[in-house]
Amino acid sequence: MILLNPKQHSRQYKDERSREIMLKTIDFFERKGKQKLKEDDRNRVWYEDFLEFVKENELFYNLLTPDKYGEENCRWDTWRNCEFNEILGFYGLHYWYTWQVSILGLGPIWMGNNEEQKRRAARLLKEGSVFAFGLSERAHGADVYSTEMSLTPQPDGTYLANGEKYYIGNGNIAEMVSTFGKMADSGDYVFFVANYSHKNYELVKNIVNSQSYVADFILHDYPITGADILSRGEEAWDSALNTVNVGKYNLGWASIGICTHAFYEALNHAANRTLYGMKVTDFPHVRQMFVDAYTRLTAMKLFALRTADYIRSASAEDRRYLLYNPTVKMKVTTQGEEVINLLWDVIAAKGFERDTYFEMAARDIRALPKLEGTVHVNIALILKFMANYFFNPQEYAPVEKQDQPVNDDFLFNQGPTRGLGKIRFHDYRAVYDSYDLPNLSIFKEQVALLKEFLAGATPDADQQRDTDFLLSLGEMFTLVVYGQLILENAKIYNLEGEFIDQIFDFMVRDFSEFALTLYSKASASEAQMKYLMAMIKKPAVDAGRFAKIWNETVISLKDIYEMNP
Ligand SMILES: Cc1cc2nc3c(=O)[nH]c(=O)nc-3n(C[C@H](O)[C@H](O)[C@H](O)COP(=O)(O)OP(=O)(O)OC[C@H]3O[C@@H](n4cnc5c(N)ncnc54)[C@H](O)[C@@H]3O)c2cc1C
Repeated sequence: MILLNPKQHSRQYKDERSREIMLKTIDFFERKGKQKLKEDDRNRVWYEDFLEFVKENELFYNLLTPDKYGEENCRWDTWRNCEFNEILGFYGLHYWYTWQVSILGLGPIWMGNNEEQKRRAARLLKEGSVFAFGLSERAHGADVYSTEMSLTPQPDGTYLANGEKYYIGNGNIAEMVSTFGKMADSGDYVFFVANYSHKNYELVKNIVNSQSYVADFILHDYPITGADILSRGEEAWDSALNTVNVGKYNLGWASIGICTHAFYEALNHAANRTLYGMKVTDFPHVRQMFVDAYTRLTAMKLFALRTADYIRSASAEDRRYLLYNPTVKMKVTTQGEEVINLLWDVIAAKGFERDTYFEMAARDIRALPKLEGTVHVNIALILKFMANYFFNPQEYAPVEKQDQPVNDDFLFNQGPTRGLGKIRFHDYRAVYDSYDLPNLSIFKEQVALLKEFLAGATPDADQQRDTDFLLSLGEMFTLVVYGQLILENAKIYNLEGEFIDQIFDFMVRDFSEFALTLYSKASASEAQMKYLMAMIKKPAVDAGRFAKIWNETVISLKDIYEMNP
């Protein structure tokens, strides 16, 4: 089984320490128990216990210090960080959040060339500190060009920092807050570190109403020297975007963790509940919802895992991860919402109960598509790759599963963020054509029609400026990319054909839905509508396949996991 089951941990690691980190973390939460987990959530208790556990076991130190700056077992290894993300999401998004914003805060430090600050960060990690990423500002949202935080040069060669940052996780305790701003004289971008405990750092308040601390802070004539500066100019800009590249991938894993725990809880409830003399899971629509939830969740994980292979093998010559990464961010996280919607429709009232994990899941799953770049921002990014993806493929050496215990050096050396439209991809048709399955064949017809649509009824200049039109088109293109990496990983994980075909049952339905949405847009032309109508297709029905998956794969998960009380 590909889903995480903390009570039967089965993920393979090539070193003992990685496995130990995962098992210890699971043990921490299982010892804490569901009741206390929920009580802390309800009362918005600061997660001191978790931070203490992280410190005692040097977890962030091992997981987030590149090998060059740490001792034995320290490395930035996306293979193991994936699962750590997943485990934290599985037990609660707040625990994941303090880890996530530490990753973001460390990005500009490891990417910069300030060796002294790198050594300081490694020391602080060993001492159990967390980190913060001060990019967002209250007035500017996604528009980081308009950043107002400024550094004003002083006659003695130092600087004074002034400005406000808003929505900054860990901004209440981080000794190194990586802060993005502009030079007051030249307007050049700059990243520098500020310390929450300095008297000129005003912690205004926690903006959110939760266990996490998401800070509004102001720097008032905060003194900065050259030693505090991480990067300047284009390098500072690139490290802001490249840090987000590293971080946004994790949001998919938080969704996967949340959905997995919610899935077990929902299945246990429904399968053990009797209505009208039968189990809730005997209703055909309930079976449909569970099979859909399970296949969607498995697809989310297959895609995210495969993306890690491309992240870990990336280089200046192979930047394909820049397409797969925003796809994790936008597609995996919105699929997470879909999974929770399906499960909630099954368990209904139970999903509101204060003692369930589900109640938190239903609230928290909404965050992941919205933060660190909205779905729209990521689709806009994904669309930049569409022309080369469909019409200009290139040969690459095959990328194997990347589970080797090494440091991911390239992540902190990604280089300039320009030239996305020039990135080329291996031909998606190769993996699609390597299967012969009924739903996959239908999906391939839909994809072929989409390609014909792009070539034969190309969106006109107005449509290419109309983000509403483009976003729907982007959803359809994303599905093609999503299916491709799912299929690649289905081979690596030896998934059965019937199960893959069940995944493509929902893929066909989703494609049809997006085609109908685009068809209904005001500006869709007659020629475009004709193609789009042809793309609306029904999946291949196979009652035997469905029953087999329900019996052997889905309902068999009943009672295999329940969090300790
Ligand atoms: C709980 C929480 C924690 C956070 N933690 C941090 C943190 O630690 N550090 C940090 O720096 N920030 C943090 N943020 C900020 C978060 O990343 C931003 O809120 C987010 O990136 C988007 O900004 P916005 O929500 O203000 O939306 P806006 O930028 O105001 O967007 C408004 C609308 O415009 C659309 N839009 C904007 N730009 C584009 C575009 N280019 N193409 C298409 N559509 C577009 C958006 O999709 C959205 O629908 C956090 C926010 C929250 C709520």
